[in-house]
Amino acid sequence: MKVLLLLALLAVSALAAQKRYDGYKVIQVKPKNVASFNALAKLYKEQNSIYDFWTEPRSLDESIDIMVPPTHAKEFERILRTYNLEHRVKIQDVQSAIDVSRKDQASPTNVKDPRSRSGSSRYAVNWTQYYDYTAISVFLAQMAQAHPDIVTLKTIGKTHENREMYMVKISNTPANSNVTKNAIIVDGGIHGREWISPAWTTWLINELAENYAAHPQYVDNLDWYILPAMNPDGYVYSFADDRLWRKNRNPVNGPCVGIDLNRNFGFHWNEGGAAGNGCDQTYHGPSAFSEDESANVRDAILSVADRTKAYLTIHSYGQYWLTPWGYTADLPEDYPLLFDLAQKAVNNLTAVYGTQYTIGSSTNVLYVASGGSDDWAKGGAGIPYSYTVELRDTGDFGFLLPAEQIIPNNLELWEATKVIAEFVMEIVN
Ligand SMILES: [Zn+2]
Repeated sequence: MKVLLLLALLAVSALAAQKRYDGYKVIQVKPKNVASFNALAKLYKEQNSIYDFWTEPRSLDESIDIMVPPTHAKEFERILRTYNLEHRVKIQDVQSAIDVSRKDQASPTNVKDPRSRSGSSRYAVNWTQYYDYTAISVFLAQMAQAHPDIVTLKTIGKTHENREMYMVKISNTPANSNVTKNAIIVDGGIHGREWISPAWTTWLINELAENYAAHPQYVDNLDWYILPAMNPDGYVYSFADDRLWRKNRNPVNGPCVGIDLNRNFGFHWNEGGAAGNGCDQTYHGPSAFSEDESANVRDAILSVADRTKAYLTIHSYGQYWLTPWGYTADLPEDYPLLFDLAQKAVNNLTAVYGTQYTIGSSTNVLYVASGGSDDWAKGGAGIPYSYTVELRDTGDFGFLLPAEQIIPNNLELWEATKVIAEFVMEIVN
């Protein structure tokens, strides 16, 4: 009884310390013409420390979700009127939405029966809730222990706050064999608040290792390298301090903390769509790969890049399957091949529950973003099939996606991933 009371008090004090979003709204805006698009892009470029763009401006066809603080509600209304922008409020009060979503967060006082949905009670993570970085780390160690013939857990370096970063190798190729298999790299969690992303990468590890027997071909014919959470400090901070934290936690810029790791990769770094102001959500950092996290990921990827044919970097949200380039509206030479594979993957994804994904054809892109890991994976590391995938949803919950959607999200994404895997298996060097 005493222990429960103590846990409850700890939970309450943890909540009290968290950043609050009372009166913040998420407003979906549809740019109708180039002038209104440019007005929004300017806002994104110059004021994204005030207006938090939950989805980024890219093209005229896509609506944009913007979180507006109560202090700037009037100013934002003026912008909407000036450009006669079509809009609707998607989240009326962000703090209430965060409070509601708290039940989805695993904590000592809030752990559901782990056997209820996934059938696996043996591991630290079970996909009926969102788990913190400690639980994810324990889960990775458990997987390596339970499946030593398939799963190898490697540390790839430390974060700014000295947390261990991991890459999971899934392979049944004996160490002394000279068989070389094609490889796929999947990573997630580069943005702290996108919790569905590590909830997918951990599930994928489980599916390949624990459920190996159901589809041995995906391990027999391929090696997988999975980086489940690329921004542990930001993820931890999002759990403990600020649910909507995106960047890492390096206090390089005076009063403002954090670099957007997905603007910090060194291929056409700082060539647009990234901020030079350290307070901005998309701050690119002082130089390419200035951050421990992005440098660790770079080195981990380069160590296996020669055999790797596909790279999937998993974000949320918006339901997009995006191809390079991010830094320019020009298309890569092999774009038709990338698009074709994306189309097949998305078709199989949609077949599961009807979830619609938009394939990022760059043809109508008006706004570019440089320094992304997908551009670097293709242009810097030479991995031909490089994609950024933005998972569920389309903005009803945004980053606060209810945990009951984790398993459906993962089941549909698995169908898309199988398409990529089957394609990569067939590539002859
Ligand atoms: Zn993201």
